This record gives sequence, structure tokens and C-alpha cells, in this order.
Amino acid sequence: MMRKKITKAKRIVVKVGTSTLLLPNGKLNLSCFDRLAFVLSDLNNRGYEVILVSSGAIGVGLNELGLSSRPKEIPKQQAIASVGQVQLMNLYTNQFKLYGQITSQLLLTQDVTSFPESRENVINALNALIDMQIIPIINENDSVALDELDHETRFGDNDKLSAIVAQLISADLLIMLSDIDGLYDKNPNIYDDAKIIPNLRVITPEILQIASGAGSRFGTGGMTSKLKAAEFLFENQLDMVLTSGKNPDIIFDVLKGKNIGTYFESEEKDD
Ligand code: ADP
Repeated sequence: MMRKKITKAKRIVVKVGTSTLLLPNGKLNLSCFDRLAFVLSDLNNRGYEVILVSSGAIGVGLNELGLSSRPKEIPKQQAIASVGQVQLMNLYTNQFKLYGQITSQLLLTQDVTSFPESRENVINALNALIDMQIIPIINENDSVALDELDHETRFGDNDKLSAIVAQLISADLLIMLSDIDGLYDKNPNIYDDAKIIPNLRVITPEILQIASGAGSRFGTGGMTSKLKAAEFLFENQLDMVLTSGKNPDIIFDVLKGKNIGTYFESEEKDD
């Protein structure tokens, strides 16, 4: 069955994770950067309104500085993110430019999107950029975001950030590109007989359970954070497709309404 609602989507948020942008050896996945820039520029030309939420500042920073592993000290991680974010945007800017597409950068923290006045400012800036056919590239401001008891500035992960961005601009669809091609009924890296779940309309405790089983990383990222993002989207009548970022061309097929990945479809809006 076709996903008819998706074929009408116009305003799209695409989220890519570090595992999509970097190769297992820590080097840049240049074909991914290139295809992503091509696909999103092409969609923009065709009248889609596109926003990219991209992780990767620390990964790209480690690569830039020739470091093989992430230091434990938070100030050092922040310094690496600060180096990497510039390099990440440099890569995007150059790739998008090849296709005649202008991009921009927004670095957000949780307090900015939850405080009403600054939240309104972010919404206005994003809408102005979309009106100017510019593709905003958004990341958490990793160099300054920290969790403090009385002042929470971190989103925690970009899955949540991308869901919040989708809500801020009332996106028709969030496309979450991951290192896995969808949600499975059990962790496919452990169980050979795991089956993909093509459609989901509610996040039940049982569903959360299958994502937090053995093999998952707890707390940061992993499938659990994607399901938490989906839960937030459902509360806001927003939709998401979770699929593999291995080849970003897949975005074209997702938007054609093909049965790809896992479709988290909220109840119809009454409009
Ligand atoms: P990304 O880096 O792309 O954001 P993550 O690596 O954080 O993605 O999360 C995806 C991983 O979650 C999968 O590679 C898989 O190892 C794990 N996982 C655990 N349970 C499941 C499940 N039920 N279905 C799919 N993936 C699962």
C-alpha cells in the first residue's frame, strides 16, 4: 500500500547522524555529503521546503585534528565540536554550492527553543530562510550546551532536536536517516530473524522495550531516542519515516510514498 499522505508532503526536515556522515574508520563519507547535497538541492528546486538537521561536529572535528578517539573531558569535547562544526559547514557549503544551493547555519540549545520569545525568533528565522529558498542546516550548539540542574541547555540528542525543529516549523514529514533501515521487532544486529515494522501509529511500552534490548546504547542515541522523538511527534500530530542514510537518494523514494523503512504516521489533523 502506498503512503498517500507522504506524497502530499511539502515541508520536510531531514536528520542525519554521525554514523551516516563518517565512515567506520573515522574518515569523511564524501559520497554521502555529495548525495545529500544533491538530493536536498534538487528537492528545493522542485518546490519542497527543506531543512537539514545534522550531527557530526565532534566526529568531523576528531577527523580534522587527527584524533582517533573522543576525549573524556567535556571542555575538550566542546573544543573539538567547535573545530568540527566549522569544518562540517564548510563541507556542506561547498557541496551544496556545486548544485547552486545556498545554505545557512543555526546552532540551537534547548533553552532557546523552550523560552517563548527566543522560540518565536527561531521560528521566524527559519520561515524567512525557507521563503528565500535557502536550506537551513541545524545542529545542537555542542560547544556551549551543557546540562545544569537549574538551566538545561542540551537537547540530549539530535533525534529530539530534529523532532523539535519539525514541530517549530510544522513540517509535513521528518525523514530520519540512520545506520539501520528501520525499526525492527528486535535488534537486527543480534537476531537474524528480526523483522522490520513498516508502520506504527502509537509508541507503546512494548515498542519502547524492543528498542532498549541487548545491543542498544542506553541514554544517548540508539533506537530508544528515535522512539522518544516519534512519541513527541505523535503528541504534536507530526509524521516521521525512519530509514537508512547509506544512500540519501532513498529520500526521493520515501517522498514518492513507497514502503521504505518505518513510517510513524500520526492521526489525521482536522484541517
Ligand atoms: P544513528 O547513529 O544513525 O542515529 P543509532 O546507532 O544511534 O543510529 O541507532 C540505531 C541502532 O539501534 C541500530 O544500528 C541497532 O543497533 C540499534 N537497535 C536496537 N534495537 C533495535 C530495533 N528494534 N530495531 C532497529 N535497530 C535497533
